[in-house]
Amino acid sequence: MHSPQSAHILNHLQALVGERNPFSAPGPLEQAGAYILQHFQNLGLSVSREEVPFEGTLSHNIFGLKEGTDPSQGTFILGAHYDAVEGTPGVDDNASAVAALLEVARCLAEDAVKGSIVFTAFALEEYGFVGSHQMAARLKQSGENISGMVALEMLGYRTTEPGSQTYPPYVDAAQYPDTGDFIAVVGNEPSQSLALGLADVLKRTTPDLGVEHLVLPGRGDSFVEVRLSDHCVFWEQDFKAAMVTDTAFFRNPNYHQPTDTLETLDIDFIRDISAGLAAYLKNPAV
Ligand SMILES: [Zn+2]
Repeated sequence: MHSPQSAHILNHLQALVGERNPFSAPGPLEQAGAYILQHFQNLGLSVSREEVPFEGTLSHNIFGLKEGTDPSQGTFILGAHYDAVEGTPGVDDNASAVAALLEVARCLAEDAVKGSIVFTAFALEEYGFVGSHQMAARLKQSGENISGMVALEMLGYRTTEPGSQTYPPYVDAAQYPDTGDFIAVVGNEPSQSLALGLADVLKRTTPDLGVEHLVLPGRGDSFVEVRLSDHCVFWEQDFKAAMVTDTAFFRNPNYHQPTDTLETLDIDFIRDISAGLAAYLKNPAV
């Protein structure tokens, strides 16, 4: 029997499942965006969107702003891309993370937070972080006080199969589990305190949730596989940022396949990660 929180997440996944692609499925992509915007609006957030033009298509980044009580704290960005590659229902990639984004916003709806939070659904991650790059460049240019950013990238695939977890060559696999049943937090050197603080809160909030972290040296520029989400463009603009992920193709065989379906996901895994993220955002240590 699912908890009420898991039921919320399942509802979101059912609403979002399906190809969401600017070229092959622009309608469902647009509908997903409208669903996200409506949810933010229902929660009383200040909603807005910005156009993201790309090769003759027009997509949107979608924002839900929760005002903080202390402007000196700056603004924290929690983001997840909502587009998908062609030919996949895109459930783990990345409806799982959008569902978490919406659930975190709901969890915090009644709470006062010190720093402002912008819940962000990014367009066109799959075409080279187009939406997040546009946002990060704009924020850099305007000089806005951004305290930190967390990108949610695939949060729903968990397995207890021994040997199911693999790693990129620069990660010392001996230091990490070989079973794909944990959530990973990835930061770079300037974002070390953010990544460690977030991993710590995730662990403390849900003791059953396996949490691992990785901090890349320098800005993390040469570590291609762990740059593959919207956090990397914030690194490039010298913001503090981290990625939370089930590790994608290092674990999930359905990555970018037609088999990336709802049945393959672990809803309670997404629920626990969402609860941890909400706890972190009440007072983010960056
Ligand atoms: Zn993705």
